[in-house]
Amino acid sequence: MDPVRLALTMGLVRAFGLDRAVDVVAAKAAGDSTLRLVHRSDYVAAVRAASADPRAADQNYGIGTTDDPAFAGMHEVSALIAGQSVAAAEAVWRGETGHAVNFSGGLHHAMPGGAAGFCIYNDPALAIARLLELGAERVAYVDVDVHHGDGVQAAFWEDPRVLTISLHEHPRTLFPQTGWPEETGGGAGEGGAVNVALPAGTGDAGWLRAFHAVVPELLADFRPQVLVTQHGADTHFEDPLAHLAVSLDAQRAVMAACHDLAHEYAEGGRWVALGGGGYAVVDVVPRSWTHLVGIAAHAPVDPESVIPSSWRDEVYARTRQLGPARMTDGRTPSWKAWEDGYDPADRLDQAVLATRRAAFPLRGLLT
Ligand SMILES: [Zn+2]
Ligand SMILES: [Zn+2]
Repeated sequence: MDPVRLALTMGLVRAFGLDRAVDVVAAKAAGDSTLRLVHRSDYVAAVRAASADPRAADQNYGIGTTDDPAFAGMHEVSALIAGQSVAAAEAVWRGETGHAVNFSGGLHHAMPGGAAGFCIYNDPALAIARLLELGAERVAYVDVDVHHGDGVQAAFWEDPRVLTISLHEHPRTLFPQTGWPEETGGGAGEGGAVNVALPAGTGDAGWLRAFHAVVPELLADFRPQVLVTQHGADTHFEDPLAHLAVSLDAQRAVMAACHDLAHEYAEGGRWVALGGGGYAVVDVVPRSWTHLVGIAAHAPVDPESVIPSSWRDEVYARTRQLGPARMTDGRTPSWKAWEDGYDPADRLDQAVLATRRAAFPLRGLLT
């Protein structure tokens, strides 16, 4: 979670002139009344205490742990990130913009009462909760980070107004060990959680096949008023923390698909796009999220583009590493459509089938 990944991303956005194609807005930090839409007040108080004095961190709240070390100012910076996602949701809901991106957000592991997985405040859940507060009746959340979007799923487990869909590496082999297909929501929200648990090693063709076998059909049926998406870049084959083998080019294809789906099903294109995980901070994260900004700005960056040398100089100055030269991994992703049939002996197809069998009937859809 080295913040250099955000600085390098913004640098690459600027190097392609995308900052002139969009409004760059600094929203205020999320206040306590907003944080309490998702988080318990005793947890917020514990974060504040650790923020003022890191030695006061209370591990009962997941703070001061290996994954979530306490640091001075942790409340302020986490609330600031959350505030950007909340403001993005407000702007999209009010029609001030069709699409909004916060690539510093997507911190999907934070729980109502505790920090987890590098996440303090759950900005995707807060953005969704704010949409509900403003009157939204149907919000869809699609999470393609390599890890399960557990905190967002937990926040709306029993809420029929929110459909959460997460595609991730199988919980058998990856943190947070949740996101099984059988997790489908509870109470009034039964059928409101959908999980696709992908086999370790899944590459472009399988990842895209799974996305298209599950997401468009659910959104076409649910007809969300707003689509919120999380684009953790840690699905990439170079990412050190997980075991999928997705290319930048496939990540870009899924971003473009989310944009298209927002226009098709989310009241003419209400779309809030967030970042997420991503630990190949030089080679992958900046390129991935620059593509996201380009797509949302209706100024997509050509994958064949050569990266400006000014940015590569910045990379070297900050990290003593050589930055990538082009906006592509040189792949041309393609996939086989689910509608054309499946192979019950194939592990990827088994994963998709498990999801469709567990979740689709609860929504009145055929498996
Ligand atoms: Zn992740
Ligand atoms: Zn658009």
